[in-house]
Amino acid sequence: MTNNLNSKRPYDGQSHTDAGERGKTLVEGLTMRDVADCFARALFQSSGEGPFYDASAVGDGCRLSNQDMHRIDLNTISPGAWQNSLTCEIEKMMGIFPNLPGSKPPARQKGTVGALVVCQNDSCASEISYPLDQVSMFEGAPICQQCYEDGDYGARDDKDNLLVHWGDLPAVSLEDLRA
Ligand SMILES: [Zn+2]
Repeated sequence: MTNNLNSKRPYDGQSHTDAGERGKTLVEGLTMRDVADCFARALFQSSGEGPFYDASAVGDGCRLSNQDMHRIDLNTISPGAWQNSLTCEIEKMMGIFPNLPGSKPPARQKGTVGALVVCQNDSCASEISYPLDQVSMFEGAPICQQCYEDGDYGARDDKDNLLVHWGDLPAVSLEDLRA
């Protein structure tokens, strides 16, 4: 693998790493603050098992801030893990994580879907069916955004904000429906 920081060097690392095919992906749709947030999230994610890791693992429900970076002993952080986490966090914000070569994009990203599914809320299910990309997986079953956000499904903090936002729930795949 070519080992320097020249931006013209080949993407000749292993395909699932940023040094290879995966690293060719253009960053799209993010602001500079988003990227800076990913940098902070990546630090928390590379801190290993513990309060920072746990708090950062919940996506937009993360209650850590930039200030919390000062509470981490950088001597305990692997620079490589931090760097890998950074690009994973950017992929998550772009909605393409894990961006593995040859894998299909998540259903949420597709323009067309071939199946309709119903929400796990029975009264909702009796009214409407949704394209795959309009539902997310929650506790093993599809749920629509309205039921998730207005209903009594996800855990909430003391300000009644969902700990895991709708946008961070996993997409529903056809494989999920066969399970
Ligand atoms: Zn519903």
